[in-house]
Amino acid sequence: MSALRIAILGAGAMGSLFGGLLAEAGHAIELIDVDPAQIAAVRARGLLIRTDAGERRVAVPILRPQEATTQPEWLIVFTKALHTQAALAMARHLIGPDTRLLSLQNGLGNAEKLAAFAKAKRIAIGMTTAPADLIAPGEVHSHGQSRTRMIMLDGHKDARLNELAAALDAAGLPCAVDPEAIVAIWEKVAFNVALNSLCAVTQRTVGGLGAAPDGRRLAHAVADEVLALARAEGCAIPPERTHATIDHALDEHGAHKPSMLQDLLAQRPTEIETLNGAVVRAAAKHGFAVPRTEALYVLVKMREADICQDRT
Ligand code: NAD
Repeated sequence: MSALRIAILGAGAMGSLFGGLLAEAGHAIELIDVDPAQIAAVRARGLLIRTDAGERRVAVPILRPQEATTQPEWLIVFTKALHTQAALAMARHLIGPDTRLLSLQNGLGNAEKLAAFAKAKRIAIGMTTAPADLIAPGEVHSHGQSRTRMIMLDGHKDARLNELAAALDAAGLPCAVDPEAIVAIWEKVAFNVALNSLCAVTQRTVGGLGAAPDGRRLAHAVADEVLALARAEGCAIPPERTHATIDHALDEHGAHKPSMLQDLLAQRPTEIETLNGAVVRAAAKHGFAVPRTEALYVLVKMREADICQDRT
């Protein structure tokens, strides 16, 4: 396979993992970020990647948006969802007539944000179960099996998307072009809305939530609200699959702190708007309420407001 030219916009945990593994596989990767600590660490020592395949250092160029000049074949967006718009605005000059955009970010509304910068026929979206933690600037860890599914936004079959999927697959990130990618996005939204916001509000790990029978019941009830929205949006999902995934996490992911809890603990804004917030707004358009999802939305927003106040 010939080397692909790929820019990764947002080189935190996920951007470092995907960019690092693609660079290791021989593709021409540019990481783009704004975090001075991450930029300094990767420039000084490369990326330190630890996966089940072992630990290694990979040299990858990392640039601030204004320093990057090469229009890539693919621009993969891996900022937190709340930063997508600003990041794409800063990287607008990198989106050429042949550049395709991909978002594997969590939540709803990612495609719409990309669509402000390119035509639907050049946008791909998807869902990945790959986990990544940025342990320190320049150091990313990812363990366990994963699956990434993607599709072009307008549904057309695109040879370049097949090429990207093959590149990810060969780099150690199992990936397929899959019409079920939209279902996968909704399933992950249901999972994240339930577990992320509940753990953030209760300040419990996933296992801690699972240890409380009422907490478990609430998590499943929240997921049901999201699945009802997915149905209203024309995406029928077998509920038992989502509930089984939630039960598995509550039983097996004991010490895991979902990103929303990590963000609040680190006094950072969360992805609540693209999870619970987006679900509340979309359900209202369909004329129904999602009271549990909305209550969690309000509680996390209040916590975020406290954090912003603490910082001023
Ligand atoms: P992260 O916070 O580790 O990384 C985001 C990066 O974006 C940071 O390095 C930040 O400096 C950078 N950024 C912010 N503004 C920018 C700008 N204007 N221009 C360029 N870069 C900018 O986040 P993450 O954990 O890698 O998550 C990224 C996305 O992937 C999120 O939507 C998340 O929900 C999703 N996701 C994460 C995981 C995971 O395990 N970490 C798994 C699946 C999906």
